[in-house]
Amino acid sequence: LSFSARGKMLKRFRDACLDNKEEIAEALVTETGKPLAEAYGIELLYLCDMIGFWAKNASRYLCDEQHRPHLLKTKKAYTTYKPRGVIGMITPWNYPLTLSIGEAIPALMAGNGVVIKPSSTTPMSTVVPCRIAEESGMPEGLLAAVTGPGTVGWELIDLVDMVSFTGSVETGRKIQIKCAEQLKPTTMELGGKDPMIVCADANLERAANGCVWGSLTNAGQVCMSVERVYVNESVYDDFVEKVVDKVAAVRQGEPSEDCDIGAMTQLSQLESVEKQVDKAQTEGARVLAGGRRVEGRRGYWYEPTVLVDVDHSMEIMQEETFGPVIAIQKVKDDTEALELANDSRFGLSASVWTKDKRGAMNI
Ligand code: NAD
Repeated sequence: LSFSARGKMLKRFRDACLDNKEEIAEALVTETGKPLAEAYGIELLYLCDMIGFWAKNASRYLCDEQHRPHLLKTKKAYTTYKPRGVIGMITPWNYPLTLSIGEAIPALMAGNGVVIKPSSTTPMSTVVPCRIAEESGMPEGLLAAVTGPGTVGWELIDLVDMVSFTGSVETGRKIQIKCAEQLKPTTMELGGKDPMIVCADANLERAANGCVWGSLTNAGQVCMSVERVYVNESVYDDFVEKVVDKVAAVRQGEPSEDCDIGAMTQLSQLESVEKQVDKAQTEGARVLAGGRRVEGRRGYWYEPTVLVDVDHSMEIMQEETFGPVIAIQKVKDDTEALELANDSRFGLSASVWTKDKRGAMNI
């Protein structure tokens, strides 16, 4: 198909997703516990937007590029982009539509077929849209799902031409090694322990809002969550007070309720968050908000939590938490903040809050 025909096919799929939005949203909220507003606003809207973007721009990104060789000046050279074939995508449970079907869109626009192995926690959030794709006229099997545990993903690797993996560092490393043995290209989107640095001159209202949203959205189950916060000592008390006030106003609720965050998706994830917070407390951290499971509700609930008096000897500042927890550490200056931010085995995203743009870029 030409780029334009691929774009038309994907836009038909987009329209069909909107026609069936209740079914997709139902799969998302049932499997993850996220608020309905997030299922629509973050996942489905993102997918629709991605389709519009790639349908419009893929031909420009992927057109032939002409080069003038340095040595053989009389010759012409081109870079030509070809489809790889079948892309195998192995995906996580936290954004089960965005990170599976959403990630498949550029691959399809580039002329590939895609087989997705979704997380066994959230299979229907991928299976339902794959069915809708076929009903909307996409060729049978061009966008397909195979469900099951990690072993299914492991077998899939042998059958595809490239692997796109989103998930934990530990699984990513195993998959990268297997793909290396087969000389198969990969893209790896892995975990993080993302730092936020609040400088002395930051707009504290904005920084506190950013912190609360960045830590708590999707109940903190985001690869790029704000996981650790370093605040200049001169503004530390004001910042902490604002964060605690804002956390108190966060509404936790069932998908159908008017709320800001929902349940956690998995019991194992809840237990891991609980363990980290409890351990930090025995090592001297103080809880200023939350810090407990919510009992008596269906599903897995953990209160939005603020922790202070934390330091880098604690697991909570070293390992991914992946839950609704804000851990705040006081620092004496930007240099100390930067040293601590860099003291991590992870690298994914980070943020700096200051009014000094040049200073921010230096950091
Ligand atoms: P996970 O690594 O446990 O699983 C991810 C996927 O890999 C699942 O589909 C799982 O079934 C499959 N899998 C597990 N073992 C496998 C194996 N040996 N071979 C092939 N496939 C295997 O991760 P998760 O718990 O589903 O997701 C949470 C993690 O994902 C967090 O660490 C989070 O930071 C990360 N994540 C990263 C991004 C990003 O874009 N960087 C986005 C979302 C989530």
